Amino acid sequence: MKLIEERIKKDGKVLPGNVLKVDSFLNHAVDVELINACAEEWYKLFKNEGVTKVMTIETSGITMATLTALKFNVPLIIAKKTRTKISESYLSTGVVSYTHGRSYQVNVCKDYIEKGDKILLIDDFLANGSALKALIALAEEAGAEVVGAGIAIEKTYQGGAQIIAKLGYRIESLAKISSLSDDGSIEFC
Ligand code: 5GP
Repeated sequence: MKLIEERIKKDGKVLPGNVLKVDSFLNHAVDVELINACAEEWYKLFKNEGVTKVMTIETSGITMATLTALKFNVPLIIAKKTRTKISESYLSTGVVSYTHGRSYQVNVCKDYIEKGDKILLIDDFLANGSALKALIALAEEAGAEVVGAGIAIEKTYQGGAQIIAKLGYRIESLAKISSLSDDGSIEFC
């Protein structure tokens, strides 16, 4: 999608460790019009899939997943990094955080995903695929079907998309980056 590519070119910053900083428009200061356009695009791409729920992982995917759920007029499920003590009926799985370099658990209360749900996954980035794999595992453990994933920015050279596509899942990335360089340059596919 041209709009998000242009914005990455203008305001994205390359940080050490192959991290693209998009804090000024995507996940700290949020350009709501831009993410609304992303949500509209995912709606067009997945509108015939019978989506019953949109699902994301804390924290940075929440804004775009919210607007996407609004387009589909379905609930949003947020996989959480913490559990409350009140409910013990959680599904849990592990994620390796790309940006923080550590492992953590993500949790979803069993009551919020049902057998037969058709789930669209949304996230801001796709790198090695750990976050997406965790969401797929949680949805499928609950008996739901994953209809695909809407990703704002895919870093194609990190291979996550290929691994997940090989498992048979549809991935729709709105911007595809083929390399980030230490001199700050960003190449698109
Ligand atoms: P993966 O699990 O696919 O390796 O990484 C995806 C997750 O890591 C996303 O949820 C995102 O929050 C974070 N992430 C991965 N690469 C980047 C990046 O270059 N920039 C930012 N801001 N987050 C990233």
